[in-house]
Amino acid sequence: MAALQAFTRAGSVGPARLCDSEFEPFPMPLRETAPKLLPEEYEKNFAEIAPALNPRQAAIEAARCLYCFDAPCTIACPTHIDVPAFIKKIATNNLTGSARTILSANILGHSCGRVCPTEVLCEGACVMHEKEEMPIEIGRLQRYAVDYVLDNGIRMFHAGALNGKKAACIGAGPASLACAAELAKWGYDVTIFDRNELPGGLNTYGIAAYKARAKDAIREVELVKQLGVKFRQKIEVGRDISFAEIEKQFDAIFIGVGLGETWGLSLPGEELHGVYGAIEFVAKTKVHPLHEVEVGARVACIGAGNTAIDVVTAARRLGADTVYLIYRRGEPEMPAFEYEYQLAKQDAVVFLWQTQPVRVIGENGAVIGIECMRTKLGPPDDRGRRIPEAIPGTEFTLEVEMVVRAVGQQPVTEQLRAIEGVQLHKNGTVKVNERRQTGNPKFFAGGDCVNGGKEVVDAVAEGMSAASGIDAWLGAPRGKA
Ligand SMILES: Cc1cc2nc3c(=O)[nH]c(=O)nc-3n(C[C@H](O)[C@H](O)[C@H](O)COP(=O)(O)OP(=O)(O)OC[C@H]3O[C@@H](n4cnc5c(N)ncnc54)[C@H](O)[C@@H]3O)c2cc1C
Ligand code: SF4
Repeated sequence: MAALQAFTRAGSVGPARLCDSEFEPFPMPLRETAPKLLPEEYEKNFAEIAPALNPRQAAIEAARCLYCFDAPCTIACPTHIDVPAFIKKIATNNLTGSARTILSANILGHSCGRVCPTEVLCEGACVMHEKEEMPIEIGRLQRYAVDYVLDNGIRMFHAGALNGKKAACIGAGPASLACAAELAKWGYDVTIFDRNELPGGLNTYGIAAYKARAKDAIREVELVKQLGVKFRQKIEVGRDISFAEIEKQFDAIFIGVGLGETWGLSLPGEELHGVYGAIEFVAKTKVHPLHEVEVGARVACIGAGNTAIDVVTAARRLGADTVYLIYRRGEPEMPAFEYEYQLAKQDAVVFLWQTQPVRVIGENGAVIGIECMRTKLGPPDDRGRRIPEAIPGTEFTLEVEMVVRAVGQQPVTEQLRAIEGVQLHKNGTVKVNERRQTGNPKFFAGGDCVNGGKEVVDAVAEGMSAASGIDAWLGAPRGKA
């Protein structure tokens, strides 16, 4: 917590190369900012959307579970947590056992209980839907069990006896944390290198604050530290230490570097003050006190994925009066999950479907508006998505002080190309085999830098699978206790 506060006050360091002006104060005032709210209003607006269950609620919810054989909820979870087993342990008040079941399958079970899109994973598969009943609240039950062990400082795992092998993980996001924890349990001497001041990757710097605060992500990292994993923060591999040097020092290396900057829009006016990348903006709400985060009175967000929802909801909750979500396709094509869309609707976001930005308009170097035009949907592209075509003569202007790009993150291709032998797909993601081994046999990879950007639970599953790959490749060495 001290580290978080120190970081917040200093307001600098951070992944300055993830987004150029990341964590720097806004360079000049926005033309008009939303009026500041009362401190209690910020707290209310960013309060957890899925608050913790109390013991009575947890007992009632656990008792509803049918403890299905071949449970579809477990199959639907990318880390295959034994859901009926952990729920049964809650029902019998064995919370430590329940947390052990969860965390053995997924060391980030704490954050996954808060941030997983459960409605499309475990809860989406729950048999209760067939009975036309509410699915079991698996995410909240999971959180209930894991909160118990974290709140009570109960140690869950111990490092395995040292096996004489050294492994490095590049990045301290969910993928690396999961990989490192597995390897440490088998006796590997593991070091994580991360360029941020704080560990946790996007769990700390990205995911909406009303789902999980940065301090929750940091608390979870303690579980990995307990396993003896060493953290070297503020070290960017490829800049502060070369990949070749890491290759020399370690027996195996896991690449969990995630993705990079938000894509640009190639629009005139994009250089104006008041145009930001989505992660740059969302990260401020995670690592700065909320009342210090500046937001325009009117905001336009370009894109309609889950990250765009995080942007528009954050802007509204910080006090922006009008927030537009601009998407060149229609509502049916929106990539955000239904649940996320509903959140933005509840926050009275204005959705502009079949609309595309043309240019950002400025005055004295700052944003004062955005020009848009309407689109019609043409034939499908090779991914089956209908191609939007601008309709000439439909231009219109919105008065806004802030424009946020939320059109996906770029892969960090330049950095990855610096690793000898590692090959990339056309879209810049890392090529791996079934062991998650790259073209350079010492390097394994997983998480967003391989899957192109999915969920925390996918990154965890891939990190764990890479740990198994590393262990198998090195002949599963085991130390003597
Ligand atoms: C705004 C936003 C909201 C999201 N919301 C959700 C959500 O609600 N639920 C959900 O499940 N998922 C969500 N996701 C997705 C989820 O955060 C990612 O899938 C997950 O964090 C990927 O984990 P990772 O370890 O692969 O990468 P990251 O979390 O990106 O971690 C990579 C780490 O590597 C570091 N790094 C990069 N290069 C180097 C280098 N050369 N040297 C040292 N360190 C380096 C980075 O600084 C970072 O700390 C969201 C993503 C975004 C962008
Ligand atoms: S599918 Fe639903 S009812 Fe069955 S075990 Fe999973 S959570 Fe319980």
